[in-house]
Amino acid sequence: MTRIDALPIHFDARVLEHDTGAALHETVPSPWFAANEAHTEGRLRIERMHDVLERGPVADAIRFAPGRLADEGELERVHDADYVAEVRRSIERGGGWVTATTRLAGGSYEPLLAAAGTALAAAETVLSGAAPMAYALTRPPGHHAQRAQADGYCFFNGAALAADAARQAGIERVLILDWDVHHGNGTQDIFYDRDDVLTVSMHMDHGAWGASHPQTGRLDERGSGRGEGFNQNVPLPLGAGNIAYLRAFDEVIAPLAERFKPGMIVCASGQDAGAYDPNGRHNVSMPGFRGMGARVRELADRYTGGRAILVQEGGYNPSYAPYCLLATVEGLLGTGSETPDPLAYVPDQTLGLDERFAELRAELSDARLERVAAAAR
Ligand SMILES: [Zn+2]
Repeated sequence: MTRIDALPIHFDARVLEHDTGAALHETVPSPWFAANEAHTEGRLRIERMHDVLERGPVADAIRFAPGRLADEGELERVHDADYVAEVRRSIERGGGWVTATTRLAGGSYEPLLAAAGTALAAAETVLSGAAPMAYALTRPPGHHAQRAQADGYCFFNGAALAADAARQAGIERVLILDWDVHHGNGTQDIFYDRDDVLTVSMHMDHGAWGASHPQTGRLDERGSGRGEGFNQNVPLPLGAGNIAYLRAFDEVIAPLAERFKPGMIVCASGQDAGAYDPNGRHNVSMPGFRGMGARVRELADRYTGGRAILVQEGGYNPSYAPYCLLATVEGLLGTGSETPDPLAYVPDQTLGLDERFAELRAELSDARLERVAAAAR
């Protein structure tokens, strides 16, 4: 097993200054409440994640590392130049609601560049050989950001930038694993016609949600052209928990990785599949996140020389999401540390799970797997 002496956690405090303001959970404040709470994608969630890593049981097994600002030329590797300029100009005009749930403020541009740059900094740590794995602890999330469309709190796609950085560094095939509870539609959009980046998104079966998110996240979105067969959605029934997510790793990701033979793994690491998340209807608890972290490590040891880049995505319960991140890191480190779950008690028994995995097995036909294997030859 690749030894991780101290997992680098890249963090840039400038990302905290992206001010999403007050909200009715995630949208315009209610006129009837005397006081509205902070928008759910606020700074507290990331501050708490930083706290739990800094003060919790993995403190001696991690180290904090700096982020940096991305420049616009780097953003244009995965986003249209006109879109990048439009985001900047919108901020210069004072910001505002970009979609029903997605907000910019006047001072958001440097934080957004820091969010993207922190993902790139984590990628550089791994690609330079300074550490086998690195985690970008950042906000806002990025996996809904499409080539030319902001969506779901996301503007610039850090996981896509990390995957692109790996390709630019000469790694031929990159596997993206997205376990945020929402469909990684932005990452899907960016790599949809490519066979050098295989994207797997596990998510609750929420379907399309409007003009900013026309993709459905369903099984029939498989990629197009050269990329046909290189986009794998794993929509999981509402209520799905640890069993479902770990089955997705063992029954869907494992056979694809075996054929694709990735040279790098990039993880879109959200904790909003957690059982207490206000934005998710899934039931994953700390053992599930620990199991996913351990599986990433196993896949990395088998295919990528132990290398993986992890980028923070969603996770909106400021009490539970940090513990779920802690469990993920425990799994990645493989030190046997198992912090007890302070909250979970709901049994893990999803209706409809066997039927969905039967459909997924049908997706992974011999022809489909042969197509993926051809990319590795
Ligand atoms: Zn999410």
